[in-house]
Amino acid sequence: MNKKIGILGVLFTVFILIAFQASVAKNYAMEDITIRSNSGVKNVIILVGDGMGLAHTEVTKICHGPLNMEDMPYMGYELTDSLSGPVTDSAAAGTAIATGFKTHNRMISTIKVNDKLVNVTSLLELAKCSGKATGLVSTTRITHATPAVFASHVKHRDMEEEIANQLIEEKVNVLFGGGKKIFSDDKIKLAKKNGYKVVYTREELENVDGKYALGLFSDSHIPYVLDRDDKTVGLLEMTKKAIELLEKDSDKGFFLMIESGRIDHAAHANDIASVVAETKEFDEVVGYCLDYARKNKNTLVIVLSDHETGGLGVGIDYGDPVDEKKILNIKASTGTMAKEIKNGGDPKEVIKKYTGLDLTNEEVKKIKDAMGSDNKYALGNAIGEILSEKVGVRFMSHKHTGVPVPIMAYGPGAEHFRGFRHHIDTSKETANVMLFGGDRVVVANGVGVIKGDANGNYRIDSDDAYITLNQHVGKITTNDNEKRLDMDNNGIIDYMDVAIIMEMAES
Ligand SMILES: [Zn+2]
Repeated sequence: MNKKIGILGVLFTVFILIAFQASVAKNYAMEDITIRSNSGVKNVIILVGDGMGLAHTEVTKICHGPLNMEDMPYMGYELTDSLSGPVTDSAAAGTAIATGFKTHNRMISTIKVNDKLVNVTSLLELAKCSGKATGLVSTTRITHATPAVFASHVKHRDMEEEIANQLIEEKVNVLFGGGKKIFSDDKIKLAKKNGYKVVYTREELENVDGKYALGLFSDSHIPYVLDRDDKTVGLLEMTKKAIELLEKDSDKGFFLMIESGRIDHAAHANDIASVVAETKEFDEVVGYCLDYARKNKNTLVIVLSDHETGGLGVGIDYGDPVDEKKILNIKASTGTMAKEIKNGGDPKEVIKKYTGLDLTNEEVKKIKDAMGSDNKYALGNAIGEILSEKVGVRFMSHKHTGVPVPIMAYGPGAEHFRGFRHHIDTSKETANVMLFGGDRVVVANGVGVIKGDANGNYRIDSDDAYITLNQHVGKITTNDNEKRLDMDNNGIIDYMDVAIIMEMAES
């Protein structure tokens, strides 16, 4: 090549790209971005057992036999620390899983950059702009922290009204869970205006179709497995319908997050029978998703926990201390028992009725003491502690702990999800497998002078998106190189920037 023309050519390209860059330097909205080509996996299913540590799965296994989770070929440990310290909450842990960024406890897919609140793009939003259908399913209120982090951005998890609005405006195709009380008439109107069909019962769930479905199956959280009646909609039914709807929705596949949100609540209450029943339900859903992935080869299934709750131990003695028969014989949550006692029920009789177990005088006294406490959870907690001891397990606290939690994976790209890792690694690897299949090899010579040129070759191609994702997502921009990859100039490099670079690469 003639050297002179080569240099002129490069200069010309730089000029065109700078001009082009000026024309795209606008306020990006995720819905304006369309990633057309995509070498990644078609369907991604992330299953979150909220608060589920290895002890929770192990006691469930002792009670019910081998778990579906054990069939997953790749396994690792997730470190869960947040910017608040070693003990995270579900908001910060969920944000890390959903966005690849650590944040402070209570925050929903937002981070502080120089005291300013910045929204961080989630995997679900990235999936959406690559043409996939999206869904969130949970046994908690659908506005609770774990579903919220995937499709809303607020500074505090308690802003559930605002989260509800954002979930609807984000137009997540499928939203199934509890939380009817959060959705006022105005919000339901807004949902319908946005094309949602709104359903409240099993029958309506079975018959719902269309592009957008909002299912609210309980006023607040969906009742514990042990407290359900035959009208209660469970996690498996919601999951089956969600997959059925999402499959029809897009030939580019789907992104679905399914949360068993009440393993955590049961562990907070030290309610071992509910921990087992909720984990068992979750494992059945894992089994269903694995079957789906075996039949639909292009599906990645990731099972993980956001943090451990309760500091549960498997046994309080050597040998065979856990009495699975006693656990399986418990017919209600400790919350239900506490309510009945508060309403005047005799502690001994109520516990006997639901568990078949006899309380000692000392245990009765513990329950009566707890009834006098100002803490509204004290009575339920006391019952949980007493029953745990009787069946041979013990919880260390009523809060979360900082121990690493399990992650398991099956399907294309599953081999990336093993070893010791952090939620933020899992997030970025999920994005990597979803967009690029996970196995791409690229060479980077350093960031170029053109905005979006991550490998310094004076043009924008999908390698730049790949490098930005794998080497830069999760950063608060501090130098000019990083600023050149912060496509929307919001001070961070997140999935939005990757999406913008991918779109530019193709235009
Ligand atoms: Zn919790």
